[in-house]
Amino acid sequence: MKLVVVGGVAGGATAAARLRRLSEEAVIILLERGPEVSYANCGLPYYIGGIILDREELILQTPESLAKRYRLDVRVKSTVLAVDAAAKTVRIRDAAGNREYDETYDKLLLSPGAFPVRPPFPGSDHPLVRTLRDVADTEALAGLAGKGGNAVIVGGGFIGVEMAENLRLRGMSVDLIEARDQILWNLDPEMAFPVQEIMEGKGVRIVLGDAVTAITPQNDGLLVSTRGGLSLPASFVLLAAGVRPDTLLARNAGLKTGLAGGILVDRSMRTSDPDIYAVGDAVEAPHLVLGKTVLPLLAGPANRQARIAADSMMGRTAEYSGTLTTAICGVFGLQAASSGAPEKQLKSAGIPFQKAYIHPLNHAGYYPGASRLHMKILFSPGDGRILGIQAVGAEGADKRVDVIAIAMQAGLSVGDLAGAELAYAPQFGSARDPVNQAGQVAGNILSGEMVPAYPDEIAGLIANGAVILDVRTTGEFTAGRIPGSLNIPIDELRNRLGEVPKSGPVIVCCQVGLRGYVAARILAGAGHDARNLVGGFLTYQAFQLKTEK
Ligand code: FAD
Repeated sequence: MKLVVVGGVAGGATAAARLRRLSEEAVIILLERGPEVSYANCGLPYYIGGIILDREELILQTPESLAKRYRLDVRVKSTVLAVDAAAKTVRIRDAAGNREYDETYDKLLLSPGAFPVRPPFPGSDHPLVRTLRDVADTEALAGLAGKGGNAVIVGGGFIGVEMAENLRLRGMSVDLIEARDQILWNLDPEMAFPVQEIMEGKGVRIVLGDAVTAITPQNDGLLVSTRGGLSLPASFVLLAAGVRPDTLLARNAGLKTGLAGGILVDRSMRTSDPDIYAVGDAVEAPHLVLGKTVLPLLAGPANRQARIAADSMMGRTAEYSGTLTTAICGVFGLQAASSGAPEKQLKSAGIPFQKAYIHPLNHAGYYPGASRLHMKILFSPGDGRILGIQAVGAEGADKRVDVIAIAMQAGLSVGDLAGAELAYAPQFGSARDPVNQAGQVAGNILSGEMVPAYPDEIAGLIANGAVILDVRTTGEFTAGRIPGSLNIPIDELRNRLGEVPKSGPVIVCCQVGLRGYVAARILAGAGHDARNLVGGFLTYQAFQLKTEK
């Protein structure tokens, strides 16, 4: 069996190693356009920021180490120019040998990845306008960062946000321009704005809803002009405006591609040609919540798909069930993680949902060092199936999102989260873990035991005669409140029920939603139409940030 793999990094190198573990006899050829294989794409920003100091740490395997351990025929600087699916050959350009030749295959795996988008505005091809994909890009950017000055980053996705932090760490001033109305599109706006606030607090200037229209040379650097009329001087510009699946080879070979722009594969990672498989950023994957195929563009799916493709190529039964686009981004000590679908995607897909916000501590409050998590959970109104989770905080967002991602993959409901048994000691969590709390609050909403109100509904509710009752202490109330609210601390409520108007609904507000829930139950018992502001004043504040930005 002769197996040819195109692309020698995340998906390609993983698949090639797995193929060897499955067969000692197969001839396995790994073709990579660049000079390196198996480098740590996800670590590249941290080399530029000076956190990873040794360039060699980024190189996970060399052609020699792969050849030695796995007996792979690794050919770097070898670009596959074309696939002839009928003849089962690939055309290769060998840059080192300055020649072109054909190689036959029995089975072919494509893992060519995705390339950074270079928007077509004037000046986008200037040598100081860079993208970040590979080790060469990284070295160039590290060199530019070392000269200091101002960097302009175009795009507020994971790479733009990570690079903003790393360039600040190198002492640069940083402007980040994002065409959408929020950074980190995997989060809903009210979850992303607190992240933006932290970044701004660390000196990153963020401009939303604006786009670069031209870049012109100026002195030794550049001048960046935007649609909104900004003129920003820049030592260099980093384009982090998204990536596109590299499907040229596949399309020219007649392979089917999908609506999201990636190569279409079945569950065994086989393309529309029975002898060609494809994995990673170049392929579309079924989204387990949205019910359509998407581009995950993440290392985890690429890795797992590679293993499945290798198994399938060797005749084993292996299936990739789909993606939840589970992801995490770290910035200035904050974790921002998500899995499943955010509210905006559920809305545009027409999928019915309910939602809850909680703001628990990451571990027991009495144990030193606890920090606050901000979590949003989305679930089906009928059966409580979990549809999405987002968590932001200094610590512990990662594990809560990971736990809930697994629950989603298993098709579990919020009731299952309420009952989840998780590892606990005070320095790691709480006996009622944030995962349990998310399930319990969602369960209360689902059962109708808690009638929720959300910050974006408040104006409409007030217009319809609702009263906002703040049940926090007078000190908390004085420090910040929803305009026009009435303050009766929770512990005085039973004795002061006569002060609460019965003319309309009562929206109860506390700091995070817990005291509000108790108060809403007291009021409901007294015959009020009581609703709890889910997530309390903290969620309200996040929505206010949304209005301010
Ligand atoms: P790649 O790993 O990009 O490999 C594709 C390879 O194919 C490339 O080396 C390319 O040169 C080669 N190739 C393409 N065409 C040809 C051809 N015709 N002939 C020969 N070779 C070819 N994901 C996360 O989940 N978490 C992160 O923290 C994270 N951070 C990232 C940070 C950065 C800066 C970048 C760029 C990406 C990051 N990603 C992250 C995304 C992750 O790296 C990708 O999802 C993953 O690498 C995809 O694997 P792949 O095999 O599809 O593509």
